[in-house]
Amino acid sequence: MDDIKTIKDIVYLISAVFFILGIKKLSAVRTARQGNFLAAVGMFLAVVVTLFDKLQFELIIAGVVLGAGIGLIFAMKVQMTGMPQMVALLNGFGGIASLLVAAAEYNANISTITLDTGITICLSVLIGGVTFTGSLVAFGKLQGIVTEKSVMFPMQHALNLVLIVVTVLLGVLINLEPYFVASLLKSMNLPVLAPETIMLILVVIALLLGILLVIPIGGADMPVVISLLNSYSGIAAATTGFVLENKVLIVTGALVGASGIILTQIMCKSMNRSLMNVLLGGFGQVAGSKSSAGGADIVVKQVGVEETAMLFDSAARVIIVPGYGMAVAQAQHVVRELTELLEKHGSEVKFAIHPVAGRMPGHMNVLLAEANVPYEKLLEMDQINDEFAQTDVALVIGANDVTNPAARHDQSSPIFGMPILNVDKARTVVVVKRSLRAGYAGIDNELYGYPNCLMYLGDAKEAISKLIAEIKSNHA
Ligand code: NDP
Repeated sequence: MDDIKTIKDIVYLISAVFFILGIKKLSAVRTARQGNFLAAVGMFLAVVVTLFDKLQFELIIAGVVLGAGIGLIFAMKVQMTGMPQMVALLNGFGGIASLLVAAAEYNANISTITLDTGITICLSVLIGGVTFTGSLVAFGKLQGIVTEKSVMFPMQHALNLVLIVVTVLLGVLINLEPYFVASLLKSMNLPVLAPETIMLILVVIALLLGILLVIPIGGADMPVVISLLNSYSGIAAATTGFVLENKVLIVTGALVGASGIILTQIMCKSMNRSLMNVLLGGFGQVAGSKSSAGGADIVVKQVGVEETAMLFDSAARVIIVPGYGMAVAQAQHVVRELTELLEKHGSEVKFAIHPVAGRMPGHMNVLLAEANVPYEKLLEMDQINDEFAQTDVALVIGANDVTNPAARHDQSSPIFGMPILNVDKARTVVVVKRSLRAGYAGIDNELYGYPNCLMYLGDAKEAISKLIAEIKSNHA
């Protein structure tokens, strides 16, 4: 028996090493796939060795088949632009799993639970419950099932506070000797709540809190909220690991919790927002009021495919700036084709990747990697920003906010202070998008009125395909 425990602990340790190496490798595009694979191997080892416990295999197999089946279908169907919703669901399920395991553990061992286990059970239930319903609301907002707008009502924050205080009190009750609490309530002629009932109330409050904490946040801020909930799901898993005394669950939970919070911090920093500002809502609303109905105030210069193609004839240096619109249009493959064509005709082509371009961190890297654009062509903002001044054409494809110079000088702008790509410093900027409509932040882009900026309007995939055809016919 002891031997099995030792083997289990050693394998758990190996899995933890795989997870850490996996995360390390995930931090660079070139090694990301390998990192994903290593982490998956770590998880496989952890699952296999856990099965050495005396368990009900029928139930486990049924769970694995059902869960893997549903997961496979979702993973195959989801569009790249729908990934934030998918991640929200995954976090939510992680949260509810932690809640269910912790609550079941409590109900099965009420009379023998020690104080430290009792505290971790309460934390698992609370954080798991908040993660579950919070993630479902985030999913609903992004999917258009729940209103995207911030939902506020009088005394909302006070209600949240009351619920949190009640949760702490219930936690204390649960952790006092449960039967002592029952007899105390009885002696005071108060209705006696069985420990299981107190746990049920705790579960309901945790679920309610998840909804109440996320509904006031506007749909536009959901990606940041999802990253934060991802961190919560990790913390819930780690606390459940303490409940079950399962070391690998503690390690994985802690890794997810820490990486989630670091990612949230990176996203907030790149958007020049504070986490508090996101959690209290408001970005979308302020932004919405700044938009002037599709950039009506800005006078733009529109160009067609012929003029755009001619620009590239004399362009020795080109920087492509991809954004959310490239993802929507699924234009990454034609963008790669354009890159190869321009290089064939003697241009040097690089890509400038803004840390929050698209709708999730690494969004552009993943899309371009999928289209086989070589990694070394993808340069981070800090690496490439100084090069725009020596660039002939900056080709902006479906990016908007990440190129808006207002972020540098307009203190009233909601994106003021957000670092942007210096596309306006290039000799000519060509912007490919369908209209003059605003992007995520809901504000006009003053770049479009700059003398060196040309608007080549159209769906990114169609516009780039036409451009390729035009350049080819010019060189035929
Ligand atoms: P934006 O959302 O600012 O702009 C995208 C532009 O793409 C729109 O203006 C839209 O204009 C255009 N577009 C949409 N569909 C198409 C299409 N089919 N063809 C061509 N163009 C299209 O995107 P950015 O990538 O510049 O910036 C990302 C924004 O998202 C930032 O504000 C960032 O803070 C935010 N964000 C990013 C997160 C991340 O982790 N990456 C997370 C949370 C928020 P039109 O309708 O005229 O075509």
